[in-house]
Amino acid sequence: MKSNLLSILAVLALGLTASFGHQGVELGPNGGRLLDFGKDESMHGEVTAKDGKFHIALLDKAMKPVALDAQVLTATSGDRDKPEKLTVEKADGHFVVPMLKGEEFWIILQFKPTPTAKAVTARLHYDAGICEKCKKAEWLCECAKKK
Ligand SMILES: [Zn+2]
Repeated sequence: MKSNLLSILAVLALGLTASFGHQGVELGPNGGRLLDFGKDESMHGEVTAKDGKFHIALLDKAMKPVALDAQVLTATSGDRDKPEKLTVEKADGHFVVPMLKGEEFWIILQFKPTPTAKAVTARLHYDAGICEKCKKAEWLCECAKKK
């Protein structure tokens, strides 16, 4: 019983680390922000920002590109009071999600490997503020990890 409780606490702690602060920031092969889209790192989304839109490419366990096929992505603005569903498009082999207004916001992404599969939820914290150390935008800053 005690070990069960401990493992639950460990899972909660992991969830918190991924949700807050920058220590969870990992970058992909194209310099984008990596999100976990599957169990055991079997699927990743690499998020890059371009022309007011997020481009989300799929990568497998070995960080190799995954072809976009039957996968489904839904996106919701992380505004707790007024969550808003965002229009997700598919273009050039990746998902395209409109960026929200503002310098800082959360977007909740739900990824399904197939339309009927269980969704995996990932949270993206966008922060356009510039890190003094690496001069990158905070949402792409790995400084906290290197400490
Ligand atoms: Zn930095």
